[in-house]
Amino acid sequence: MVSQESTRHHHIDALRLQALYLVGITLFLSAIIITPFREWLGFGWWFLLIVFVIQRIAGQYGTLINHRFYAHSYFSVPRWLELVIVALCPLFLQGYHAGYVLIHITHHTYSDKEGDPHPPEDAHGRTRLTALLFPFMHRSGELGWREWKLVINHMKRPGQKVLTQHYWKFAFAIAGILALINYKLILLWIMGTQVAIFAAAVLNTYGHNPPNSKWYFWEYYHPMGGRQDHQAVDLPGWWFGRGEQYHGTHHCYPSRWNFHPNAPQGEIDHNAKLISLLVKLGLAKVRTEY
Ligand SMILES: [Zn+2]
Ligand SMILES: [Zn+2]
Repeated sequence: MVSQESTRHHHIDALRLQALYLVGITLFLSAIIITPFREWLGFGWWFLLIVFVIQRIAGQYGTLINHRFYAHSYFSVPRWLELVIVALCPLFLQGYHAGYVLIHITHHTYSDKEGDPHPPEDAHGRTRLTALLFPFMHRSGELGWREWKLVINHMKRPGQKVLTQHYWKFAFAIAGILALINYKLILLWIMGTQVAIFAAAVLNTYGHNPPNSKWYFWEYYHPMGGRQDHQAVDLPGWWFGRGEQYHGTHHCYPSRWNFHPNAPQGEIDHNAKLISLLVKLGLAKVRTEY
């Protein structure tokens, strides 16, 4: 139950994204569990493959674009390509970039501290289960000038004002196009994109573990020496993948665009491979060596 007071602290779009997430997960579970609903959908068990493919692409967009391109600005691309990236954003229903940037930078500022937007457990009764079910309902720390400056600069980037202002209109337009093909595709679209949010919620929840937690066994001993000073941990790649599983390493070295723990030795993670491919094609520039 969200109290009156805490509701006022949540941005309307956070509430909308939260509602959409719960709808997507409910639809997905219903299609697995409730046979008549699955049969009505009309894709048989193939719907699982479609949802998997959608979540895979949406997850790739979220990690490479929302995280590495916008929140950390690890690479820059030509203006036309950035506008293509902006145009694709509503297709993946992960929220718009400005919101992600603000939350993620706050997370880096406050990780391991009070005010972290997605701690695994906190003093306000947030448990791992509520963190997974309500990934958009969080308390953020006070935003300093540094965070505001990042968002103000972010809004100056190509297409950001239009995207932020009209995000839901674009999403409805995509739903309209899908309805022209087959309106049941809208349900698969919501399921797939929201399963991608679930994967991000799992990463945010299990990627940060206090040392007294039973999940702390995923902690990572960094080859650069000693135990990392952060609660953020590296996660199993088979589930998280895309290089984002090196989450502890990323918190330790937030300026590296290549999250691989052996980045200085030339090893490269999955999303970093895509970034270096873009560089080779002359479509991206990186500021640092790794
Ligand atoms: Zn980050
Ligand atoms: Zn983190």
